[in-house]
Amino acid sequence: MAIKKVLKYGEKTLREPSKEVHKVSRKITDLVQDLLDTMYAQNGVGLAAPQIGVNYRVFVIDVSTNKEPLNPIVFINPKIIKKSGAIVSNEGCLSFPEAYTDVRRYKNVMVKAIDDRGRPFTLEATDGCLLARAIQHEFDHLNGVLFVDHCINRFETEEILKKYDLPALDPEKLLSEPDLEKELND
Ligand code: ZN
Repeated sequence: MAIKKVLKYGEKTLREPSKEVHKVSRKITDLVQDLLDTMYAQNGVGLAAPQIGVNYRVFVIDVSTNKEPLNPIVFINPKIIKKSGAIVSNEGCLSFPEAYTDVRRYKNVMVKAIDDRGRPFTLEATDGCLLARAIQHEFDHLNGVLFVDHCINRFETEEILKKYDLPALDPEKLLSEPDLEKELND
């Protein structure tokens, strides 16, 4: 398959909700391969279909380190069925080159999805590990939500976006997360 262009923050497609996959057809397995090729080419930890301009509910994650063998995980039609705890996570995104900021995330998540062979699976990621955070980050992409919408410091995040020539925050998209905030302050 192919390395695709990753859409940058500001492109409309990144804000559009993605459609469910009804059948893991050739079109979908090709999409998965493009996501993996593009993610690895960019040294990313995860990539969601809307980031390469395709609004389907598909994302890929690989949290293996350089010393380990590749370990791609493919999520099709994912659903987060359990979430708990709270953590501050310093995140970036391939659609926001070089920009990192602190965001609120759940510490533990359980996700149900199907893989690229149409097999259902359930996966639990705990303790605020990279996988737990990546699942939430990529899942958001399928709903047109971006990591900066979860930022804990709006003004600092604005400065970072400006520094890297990215569009400003969209105040209407900023998320109020009283549960996470409460948990973080306890
Ligand atoms: Zn992202």
